[in-house]
Amino acid sequence: MSTELTRHPPAVDKVLAWPGMQALIDCHGRTLLLMALRAGLQQWRQGDFNDDTSLLAWVQADVQRRQAPSLKPVFNLTGTVLHTNLGRAPLPPEAIKAMSEVASGASNLEYDLGSGQRGDRDSHVERWICELTGAEAATVVNNNAAAVLLVLNSLANRRQVIVSRGELIEIGGSFRLPDVMARANCKLHEVGTTNRTHAHDFANAVNKSTALLLKAHTSNYAIQGFAQQVSEQELAAIAHQHNLPLVVDLGSGSLIDMTSLGLPAEPVVANVLAKGVDVVTFSADKLLGGPQAGIIAGRADLIDKIRKNPLKRALRCDKLTLAALSAVLRLYANPDTLVLRIPTLRLLTRTQDEIRQTAHALLTDLRLWAGPDFVVDTWDAHSQIGSGSLPLDRLPSVALRLRSTDGNKRRQSRQLRDLAARLRQLEQPVIGRIANDSLLLDCRCVEDHLPLASQWQHTKPTATGNAP
Ligand SMILES: *Cc1c(COP(=O)(O)O)cnc(C)c1O
Repeated sequence: MSTELTRHPPAVDKVLAWPGMQALIDCHGRTLLLMALRAGLQQWRQGDFNDDTSLLAWVQADVQRRQAPSLKPVFNLTGTVLHTNLGRAPLPPEAIKAMSEVASGASNLEYDLGSGQRGDRDSHVERWICELTGAEAATVVNNNAAAVLLVLNSLANRRQVIVSRGELIEIGGSFRLPDVMARANCKLHEVGTTNRTHAHDFANAVNKSTALLLKAHTSNYAIQGFAQQVSEQELAAIAHQHNLPLVVDLGSGSLIDMTSLGLPAEPVVANVLAKGVDVVTFSADKLLGGPQAGIIAGRADLIDKIRKNPLKRALRCDKLTLAALSAVLRLYANPDTLVLRIPTLRLLTRTQDEIRQTAHALLTDLRLWAGPDFVVDTWDAHSQIGSGSLPLDRLPSVALRLRSTDGNKRRQSRQLRDLAARLRQLEQPVIGRIANDSLLLDCRCVEDHLPLASQWQHTKPTATGNAP
């Protein structure tokens, strides 16, 4: 036995000469195969196996693992519809078709077919943005953080930007307004207090070095109680009196009135511009339901200045994004079919009864998959819009709830974490959330239960530890 275990692994050259190896090299390439083989021999040395058949099987499996893309679809059962870590808005088929049409060949991305001259990539979306927001002009960049950076650097380089202390926002992770402002080479001029800022705070702060007034939509928190903000109208009046622009970072922003869909109110871009705001910025992959991009819309002379900033070249969108964004904007032309055709809006407006039906359709398969260690039932949960829409506003939903049958609290919580890990290791990973001693799988974002159910049907309940 011990001689078996210490058997030396074969030499690389020997293994490469094995029957079947050449076929693997032809199929996957020599580099990849060598990487897998070296890793396999290392496993052998560590004592994980000590025979040729096991080595071959391990190498084949490893080649598959290395070939598999690391970026792949998952099931978002977190209950957060616009989940930044899970890629935010799902795109409508119209956008996917538009992307694939321009992906494989040449397109008129920056080419004016009328004149045969160089064109502007913004032209594919600008007219629609203006139509839908009432803006004079618009431009697009990689995301809303880039939009804020570009606007500030274009309009306030080395000058002061006045902001209320109640609006010095941080948005998930690395977007912090004061930091972005520093990188945009602007001087932050804070006014007011955390809970209350008045119009006269802004009016008194304007000086020769002021470049613009900035308002940021406090999207991921709310200051309640003894609180006071300055409205866009008041800010616009102060800004224009001094011949300065008023810029508003809307974050999500919406092209339509969310309350008409029974959803929490979110600023409507057209209404904000109508209040005298000169430039707004907002994300294309939040409530708009499009691809990742940042939209800048407003006064033509300011947009022109923004577009001429060399940073625009560094922050611009690619043709796939523009194709997708243009397709989504064109869907907004018909408000009557909008909710059906934009997946984000469709998911946000699903009723609790619809979601309950989905949950019930999944219950049996999940129960069988999870095995006897768990009690599975449905649970009235609350979904969130996500991506900075008010965390206070919650949408009635239904989740599949898994609880451990173990009496011991510590083992219970371990079992739940293991179960969550098993769900993440499925072919299409399932992402839920652990809360109140249970694992919750919110069904709001599951429109078709079959792909999810079939995954549970085709993996054994005792799959623990089987994952690569
Ligand atoms: C989300 C958000 C941002 C950042 O937008 P990205 O598209 O994620 O870059 C900036 N400001 C506000 C107010 C936001 O809500």
